[in-house]
Amino acid sequence: MVVEEGRVLVAPTSSPLNVEADEVLDCGGKVLYPGFIDSHCHILPSGLDLLKLDLRNCATRSEILDGVASRHRSHPDGWLLAIQYDHNKFADGVHVTRDDLDKISSARPILLRHYNGHCSVANSEALRLAGVTESTPDPEGGEFVRDVSGRMNGVVLEDAHEILWRATPAPALDDMIEAILRAGEKMSDLGITCASDMMTGLFDIETELKAYQIASSKGCRIRTRHYVQWKEVFGPKGVGLERFRELEAGIEDKDRVKVCGIKLFADGAIGSATAAIYGSYSGQPAKGPVISLNAVNTRQEGTSGQLIYAPEKLKAMTMTASDAGYQVAIHAIGDYAIDLVMDAFEATGVPSRHRLEHAMLLSDDQIARLQTLDCFMTFQPEFLLRFGHVYRRQLGEERASSLNRVRSCLDAGLKVSLSSDRPIVPGDPMDGVRSAVSRPEGFVASENITLAEAIRGYTVAGAEANGEAGVMGSLAVGEFADFRLGS
Ligand SMILES: [Zn+2]
Repeated sequence: MVVEEGRVLVAPTSSPLNVEADEVLDCGGKVLYPGFIDSHCHILPSGLDLLKLDLRNCATRSEILDGVASRHRSHPDGWLLAIQYDHNKFADGVHVTRDDLDKISSARPILLRHYNGHCSVANSEALRLAGVTESTPDPEGGEFVRDVSGRMNGVVLEDAHEILWRATPAPALDDMIEAILRAGEKMSDLGITCASDMMTGLFDIETELKAYQIASSKGCRIRTRHYVQWKEVFGPKGVGLERFRELEAGIEDKDRVKVCGIKLFADGAIGSATAAIYGSYSGQPAKGPVISLNAVNTRQEGTSGQLIYAPEKLKAMTMTASDAGYQVAIHAIGDYAIDLVMDAFEATGVPSRHRLEHAMLLSDDQIARLQTLDCFMTFQPEFLLRFGHVYRRQLGEERASSLNRVRSCLDAGLKVSLSSDRPIVPGDPMDGVRSAVSRPEGFVASENITLAEAIRGYTVAGAEANGEAGVMGSLAVGEFADFRLGS
C-alpha cells in the first residue's frame, strides 16, 4: 500500500510496488487490515469510567458492598460513583438497596450504575441531592422502584436513573479531554481507528464538542464521529438548531471530529426488563410485576417494558431532526419499540438514511419491512457473549436464542454494521467478531455470519452507517489510510 498525506495512493496489493517512498513500514509478516470502525459506542463515558469504581468482578451482594466500602475509605470525598454493578449475577437476582448503601455512608452520595446503563442504585443522600423525595412522582419513561411498603428502595430505572446521574457533578473540560485521550488510547490499542459516540451532549454539547476537538489536537488516536442527543439540540433546554449548526460548522478538522447525526431512544434494555417487547418478560414469573406500567406503557395491551416516548411523540421528534437534514439514529431493542421506530423512519420520507440501533428482537415480518425501508442497522455481537444469562432469564431460552438476527438481516440484503456499545462491554472488536461468527452457547448457530462478513461489519459497513461510504473502511484509493496489523 502507498500512503500520501494520510490517504491511500495505491491500494494494498501483493504485487511489487515501484515507488520512491520517504518512509517504508515493515509489517513484520502480519496482515494489514482496514482499521476497525466502532459505529456505536460511548467515547467520553468510556474514558470517564476509567476513573470510577469498577464492580465488574463482583458476583455477590457482599462483594459489591465490600468494594463500595473500601472505595469509601480510599476516596472519602464527593460522590462515590461505581460502574458495572450487576444484580443478575446474584443467586437470587435481588438488588442492593439504598439501606445497604446508607450503612456504608449516609453522609455522602453513593450511586451504582448497572452494567446495562439503564438502571442504578442510589443511597439516600444521592436521592436527596437529586431532589427526589418519597412524594416525587415517577418520570415519564422511568421509575423510582418502591418496596412492598411503598418506600423507595434506591433502585432507579431509565429516566429516573437519568435524573440521578444528572445530579452528579459534570466533569470539567480538562477532565473530559483527559478521558477522551485515555479512551482513544485504549481503543487504538485494540485496532480501532474511528468510533461513533452515540450520546454526545450527555453533559453539555458545547463543552463536549470543544473537548473532543482539543483532544484531537493533542493527538487523540482515533477519529471521533458524533450522534448528538436530540434534546440537547431541539429540546426546551437545548442549544437550538441555529447554534447547533454553528457548533458543527466551527469544527476545524472534520476529518478527525465530525457530527454525523442525532440520537434518540425508543426503549430501554432487556437486563432491566425495560426493552419494549410484545408479550411479557417470561423469565421472572415468580417475582411478581417487574414491569412498570406507567402512562406511556398502558396505551398498548399485550406489550411489556418501557417506551421512552409515546409513539406519536417519537415520530414527531424523528421528523424534526430528519427535516432539519440530519441522519437519525434510534435505540430500539424490543420488537414493539422496533415497530414504532420503523413507523417513525417511514414518516420522515427518507427511511434509508436513518439508523436503527441494536434491533435485538426481530420477527421475520419486521425483517421484511426493514427491506422496504432500507435503513441502516447496528448490532452489538459482544452482548451475547457477556449477557447471555441475563437474556435467558428475562426472555426465556427460546426467545433469547434468536436475539441478534445478523445472518437473517444480511441474507435479506439489509445494511448491517457491527459495534461494541462500550463502556457497557469491554469492547474488543475481536470479541465481537468471534461472537458474530460463532454465537455463544444458547444462541442459534443459524444466525452465525462468516469471518469476512464480520470484518466488513466492523469496517466498511461502519463507515456506511456513519454516512461515510468511500471515505474510510476499505483502504481503497483515496480513502483514509487507517489500518491495523493483525494475524
Ligand atoms: Zn449505546
